[in-house]
Amino acid sequence: MKILVPIKRVLDYNIKARVKSDQSGIDLNNVKMSINPFDEIAVEESVRLKEAGKASEIVVVSIGSEKAQDIIRSAMAIGADRGILITTEKAIDTEIEPLMVAKALKEIVAKENPDLVIMGKQAIDDDSNQTGQMLAALLEWGQGTFASKIDISDGKANVTREIDGGLETISIKLPAIITTDLRLNEPRYASLPNIMKAKKKQMDIMSLEELGVDTTPRLKVIKVSEPPVRQGGIKVENVEQLIDKLRNEAKVI
Ligand code: AMP
Repeated sequence: MKILVPIKRVLDYNIKARVKSDQSGIDLNNVKMSINPFDEIAVEESVRLKEAGKASEIVVVSIGSEKAQDIIRSAMAIGADRGILITTEKAIDTEIEPLMVAKALKEIVAKENPDLVIMGKQAIDDDSNQTGQMLAALLEWGQGTFASKIDISDGKANVTREIDGGLETISIKLPAIITTDLRLNEPRYASLPNIMKAKKKQMDIMSLEELGVDTTPRLKVIKVSEPPVRQGGIKVENVEQLIDKLRNEAKVI
């Protein structure tokens, strides 16, 4: 079984985002960028499937700038076999849209013929949560979204999903798309020997234009702004005062 894992290069989750002064987006100059956390979980899950003898090859693919080579190498250090980088001059956070990515991934699926695509449920920069679902629709494949457990057997994937008030397990025929939730696994740290080995693994680079994908924008970012500054709290003298404030000022009781 061959697995394709789409991975996105995003602002590292530990870094506080700074909005550009013209409010056109996030300032990505000289800040740490990393593999989208949900995509790292997708890579880890694929490697576990390979270690369990259920997958034979793991190919990671990223659409972005030349710099995205670093996250492809990181995924290879975790255990992916091969990488594909689809380069574009477009700004990854404002000009690359989920539909565009889904269309590019559809072309890669046609070239690579994977049995399974495992990807993040959402990219932490745009929080779109759209690409996996759009790709499933374009390919007319089944999809198991927000996976917290994946079990592959007999050409089927049993996907456990966290839903309101419990867990739902669905069975989908392969080929299929699975999107990862946070609790699916805890990605391993890449060992130094594996980081060295990753440097020698194959990475193919092509441009988004070469893929012949329609890149007409459907969305326009109007404004990006900081969340409102949190107001400071106050101290009350006693319980009576607290109840009074809750009743008469906050009007919550
Ligand atoms: P989104 O729909 O933007 O929240 O992204 C959902 C998932 O789609 C991500 O977790 C990635 O697996 C994949 N994805 C989104 N953008 C890209 C990209 N530029 N390159 C590769 N994969 C991507």
